[in-house]
Amino acid sequence: MSTTPTPRPNVLAIPAYVAGKPPTPRPGLTSYKLSSNENPYPPLPGVLEAATEAAAAMNRYPDMGSSALYDALSARLGVPTDDLAAATGSVALIYQLVNAFCGPGDEVVYAWRSFEAYPIAVTVGGATSVQVPLTAEGRHDLDAMAAAVTERTRIVMVCTPNNPTGPAVGQAELDAFLAKVPQHVVVVVDEAYLEFVRMADAVDGLATYRAHPNVVLFRTFSKAYGLAGFRVGYAVAPGPIAAALRAVSLPFGVSHVAQAAAIASLEAGDALMERVDELVARRVDVVARLRDVGWELPDAQGNFVWFPLGERTPDFAAACGEAGVSVRPYATDGVRVTIGEAEALDRIVEVAAQFAR
Ligand code: PMP
Repeated sequence: MSTTPTPRPNVLAIPAYVAGKPPTPRPGLTSYKLSSNENPYPPLPGVLEAATEAAAAMNRYPDMGSSALYDALSARLGVPTDDLAAATGSVALIYQLVNAFCGPGDEVVYAWRSFEAYPIAVTVGGATSVQVPLTAEGRHDLDAMAAAVTERTRIVMVCTPNNPTGPAVGQAELDAFLAKVPQHVVVVVDEAYLEFVRMADAVDGLATYRAHPNVVLFRTFSKAYGLAGFRVGYAVAPGPIAAALRAVSLPFGVSHVAQAAAIASLEAGDALMERVDELVARRVDVVARLRDVGWELPDAQGNFVWFPLGERTPDFAAACGEAGVSVRPYATDGVRVTIGEAEALDRIVEVAAQFAR
């Protein structure tokens, strides 16, 4: 018998979450972090003010029901507050959904490679991952995903745009997919990068959730809204699913600073979306420059670009590091680079020109 406490076997099987690293400082060079899909802009003064004001009440617990945030989201999105569930970043929603809907041996289907928190949350919840390979273009293979649904499937995750490869799912292909998936299966549309999408026929998440009793949207304030450090995301889901997500949430998981900053960010939506437009323009420019030097890249619809480097992945990441920019390498698959500061992106394009084939 073991003499030390032993976690459940599935806990020992949890894959590591590799967080994006900060850059290693280089003498004489400003360094940049393009490894975590963060927003490079500093907070808007009004948002910082709202957060600072809320911080003064740090001796008090936050509103556990996030009611002011639900009211603001409800008004903005045109959905009932009962259909909302705020969480400690949208990553927490993945854990909550698995906890609420899966027992041991139940299956969660998702594309791979995709957001690395999916396999972690599924393993933590004691469920089983069914990973369906992306196409060669880094897209979801929705036909194969529908075919992977079994009697044990409880959840299907659709990540659009897909982190880390970049392409977004179209409405027509999502509709065809939903027609094939039984309605007792929860279909998540993870829209973390929604605001960066510029594609005809992109998924209209809200319309899709309104049309299907099993469709759930995951959204976040971390990317377009620039609040990654405050940890706040939310689900839009049919009432019973939203209630289940709230029921299994960590009590007081969304701080009052996060709630206040999120509400202020919704109010400052126009100014923040101008910044998003600027980042999208940078993305379009960077992709065009990379294609000019010979890169074949998947469609980039998020605030990041995917370099399918294969075995050259570590060398490319190291070269970016030498140039003072940290990026996110994925084993021997490729490197994801966040659309951040313009100077950092210029350096990435320079490095990439040397790696182009
Ligand atoms: N979904 C996807 C696809 C992501 O890439 C991320 C962040 N990397 C998240 C969800 C989680 O974001 P957060 O927890 O910061 O809301």
